This record gives sequence, structure tokens and C-alpha cells, in this order.
Amino acid sequence: MLHEAGHAFHALAARDEPLLYYRSAPMEFCEVASMSMELLAAPHLTEFYSSADADRARRTHLEGIIGVMAWIAIIDAFQHWIYTHPDHSRDERKAQWLGLLKRFGGAENWSGYEDAHAYMWHRQGHLFGSPFYYIEYGIAQLGALQMWLNSKRAWRTR
Ligand SMILES: [Zn+2]
Repeated sequence: MLHEAGHAFHALAARDEPLLYYRSAPMEFCEVASMSMELLAAPHLTEFYSSADADRARRTHLEGIIGVMAWIAIIDAFQHWIYTHPDHSRDERKAQWLGLLKRFGGAENWSGYEDAHAYMWHRQGHLFGSPFYYIEYGIAQLGALQMWLNSKRAWRTR
């Protein structure tokens, strides 16, 4: 809900821009607004949740950001490798994927689920439908983190 509210506030803030072109933004920048709202609203979660639940929600959110940044790095590196190695074999692709998972994480035990691990990249639809777009989510998340940092600095100087 906070994410979608970020999109809504962004649209409201931009609707009276004198230059028509500035009244909307590319999708990746729109995500800066929505992801920023998730972070900016975090101190107010106790309006809806108990203090313990709000703390858990904030922690889960921040952990999710770290996790998704690693996932985005893996997906981006994987597709760069795919497109720069057009003659690769299935085994080479599998080895590249597993190597990237290990490089950017690899702490989980996948024993008994080796195939699911090796073909986990299938779940990322951007690889099939929007090549090289997925990095935009990481860039938008960095923008949102910068907005959050700026808000923290603004509060400190009040
Ligand atoms: Zn969104």
C-alpha cells in the first residue's frame, strides 16, 4: 500500500508541472517515488502495527532491499554473460549461473534441490521479455535509499 501511495503522491506532485513532458516519468524513475515512500513511511508504521511488529516490518523491508540488490546483480551479470557468449552450451550456462549465485551469496544449502537451484533464473521473467531492464530496479532502489538518507539528514538539522 505504501509503494502504491508513493506512485500516487508522485503523480499528484507532478500533475501541475508547466511542461507537459514533466508530468510523467519513465517507469524506472516512478519506482524511485514508490520505493522512497516505503522507506519514508517506515517511522510511522506504529500507526497501524504494534511497536514489535513495526520493528519486524522495518527490519524485513531493509533485509529485502539487501537481498534484492544481490539478486539484481546476479540477474544483470547473468544476462551480460549470456549475450556476450552467444554460442554457450547448456552446461556452460548452468555453470555460469551457479558461479554467480556463489559469487553474490551462496550461503544456502540446496542439497536435494539441485535442479531448482540451477534453473532458478527461469523465475525472472525480465530475462525473457525485457533484456537488460532489470538493473533499473536496482538503480531505482538506490535512488530511494538516497531519498531516505536525505530525509534523515533533513530531520537531523531541524
Ligand atoms: Zn511500483
